[in-house]
Amino acid sequence: MKDLKLGARSSKDSQRTVVTVGSVQVGVDLVLIAGPCSVESEKQTIITAQKVKEAGGNMLRGGAFKPRTSPYAFQGLGLEGLKILEKAKKETGLPIVSEVIDTRDVSWVSEYVDILQVGARNMQNFSLLREVGRSKKPVLLKRGMHSTLAEWLNCAEYILAEGNPNVILCERGIRTFETYTRNTLDLNIVPSVKEVTHLPIIVDPSHGTGRLSLIESMCLASIAAGADGLIVEVHYNPPEALSDKDQTMDPLMFARVASKIRKLWSFMKDLNHSNQVPAETGKPDENN
Ligand code: PEP
Ligand code: MN
Repeated sequence: MKDLKLGARSSKDSQRTVVTVGSVQVGVDLVLIAGPCSVESEKQTIITAQKVKEAGGNMLRGGAFKPRTSPYAFQGLGLEGLKILEKAKKETGLPIVSEVIDTRDVSWVSEYVDILQVGARNMQNFSLLREVGRSKKPVLLKRGMHSTLAEWLNCAEYILAEGNPNVILCERGIRTFETYTRNTLDLNIVPSVKEVTHLPIIVDPSHGTGRLSLIESMCLASIAAGADGLIVEVHYNPPEALSDKDQTMDPLMFARVASKIRKLWSFMKDLNHSNQVPAETGKPDENN
């Protein structure tokens, strides 16, 4: 891909970026980010965080600033939400992933979160990209719902060019003519990203499908396609959720899906390991 400089994968053997967040190495370990769409209250967030932790999630998501289609819909708790997330981190040890939507908020929001999320609607907000690029925090850059791979990777390039190498890409579905699902989860993009960049990529089947019944299969398909992890919506009581309740798992479902994801992850690791060509002989290892 000709416009890429810092994000480009230069050769087949080039090193992949590993983004360290607490004890998780994104790009090496399975990343399992889960939590509510929106931070709604201390009780909701802390109970959900504990359930996420129990089920083996290794980061907590939760929106304090919600970019909603309608200006009259719940917009998030802002600073209060970030303070609740900080408490949830204290209780569980889970690093926090939360969205920032305004350049003016980047520096103070960074004090509360471990990963700054740039949402699909802001993927091409170039001033926001430059601002998160100037921060030292890892950035989760979601794919815009109308964006090509090249447009998306150029947005990552804006962040990298400001001196922040810690970019994690996130596929969250694109708009197509299909209406059965909220979006069309584009899993072609996972191996495509791996082909042209060294950046890690995770997948968001919650926004990618908008349907609870499809989330498990799309989580597993994402891992099989080579994703470095997943971000999903979980609420301790989904019918009460103030946003995205139809795509939000309850803790029981999340625990079941998470256990399958872990099994598939280790199977894929073995599979990829057995496919590796030993450097000395240049031939596949016949013992495997
Ligand atoms: C979110 O993850 O909370 C979100 C709003 O997602 P997206 O930007 O992908 O729509
Ligand atoms: Mn949501």
